[in-house]
Amino acid sequence: MKEKNNRTKKNEAFSPAEQRAARAARVEVSDAEPYGWMAHSQMDREHVYHLFCEPQTKRLVCTCADFIYRGDAEPGYECKHVSAVLKYIGHQYLQLRYDPRSQYERAA
Ligand SMILES: [Zn+2]
Repeated sequence: MKEKNNRTKKNEAFSPAEQRAARAARVEVSDAEPYGWMAHSQMDREHVYHLFCEPQTKRLVCTCADFIYRGDAEPGYECKHVSAVLKYIGHQYLQLRYDPRSQYERAA
């Protein structure tokens, strides 16, 4: 009983966004054909979600229920899959594309 109470308290120390970030760390991401990304959590391999970049807003869109329902009420909402794909894209960009010499070219 006492152990359970401690666990509840620990969770309250983190905001919902922080809890999502922790779950996003356990989401596996891969590139999808013909575009976008596939994401699934390590806990739940049956549900694989397709994410893509919405051309007008340039934001990621996910097909999971969390994104669809929460995103309606909260524009710019990021589910754990969106967080994981953003991180994945960031790593790829640094490895393949990033060039310090051109970083500020557009601003100049
Ligand atoms: Zn999602």
